[in-house]
Amino acid sequence: MYMTDYNLCIKNEIISFIEMYKTGDRYQQKIALEIEEIVKSKTCFFCLDEKQCWNYRGSEFKGDKKGEFYIKKCPQCLTIHNEKLWIKDCISTIDLVGPFGIQLFRDDANAGSDKFEALEKYVIQKNPELVKPEFTRSSVHHNHIIEKTYELEVEVGKIIETCKPFIEFYMGGPMSVLMLNNIKVSISGVNRESTQTEILCEKINTNEFMYIVMKNRSTEKEKSRFGFYKYKKCYLDIKLDIYKMNTLNNSAHHLCSKIINEAAGNDIIEIIDLLDKIAQTKTKQQETI
Ligand SMILES: [Zn+2]
Repeated sequence: MYMTDYNLCIKNEIISFIEMYKTGDRYQQKIALEIEEIVKSKTCFFCLDEKQCWNYRGSEFKGDKKGEFYIKKCPQCLTIHNEKLWIKDCISTIDLVGPFGIQLFRDDANAGSDKFEALEKYVIQKNPELVKPEFTRSSVHHNHIIEKTYELEVEVGKIIETCKPFIEFYMGGPMSVLMLNNIKVSISGVNRESTQTEILCEKINTNEFMYIVMKNRSTEKEKSRFGFYKYKKCYLDIKLDIYKMNTLNNSAHHLCSKIINEAAGNDIIEIIDLLDKIAQTKTKQQETI
């Protein structure tokens, strides 16, 4: 398709921002790829294919209370000439978006940086996980049990009792019963092939989550006395960490919701790493203050 020099100029400027983001952190890299994909199919970089833009109505309409601005068809990508451009009057141009969800620009706006910003906002809104998640995290309870036992169930019961008050305090009635039961199921498992890490996460308030990381390395051996009296001996190695977490942005909220929905699957180790790293940098920041 034919593209004017101005249009191409904007496109190239957007691409230069994409390239810059590609050298950034992994969040910026992902954003860059998303925007790159979108840009491929765009034809008009004045309106980013929203086919709409805005302009000032002019001083002659001042005081008619219909607003200072109007939304119009994008003259740059209009195919039929002499067409009426006016769509509607409007009071403000802040947060003005087109029919496909991208910010609307003034009809002659040609700064690629602004268009890139609008595209970034658009992809982030569609994929909140593209932004670095921000949390505040506080420790609620830690418990590392290393023990030999003949009665696994009794030991598991004891562990549940130690974390029960914390879970009940933050979660309240029915939800805590369910959570405690989930913990029980998780730590009752022995003889797994490798260290099993499980995360349980539950929303306790708006933007507030509780999550429990369980590392279970317990094993079980069958023993016998005089060759006939058989019994099982358990070597418990269970690490249980309970945290309360406040999500500070959409990305963090998305991440927590993902853990709740158990869609995280193999990502769980990555999530733990991320949470630990965030907690570490938060501590470092606090130390330097
Ligand atoms: Zn256009």
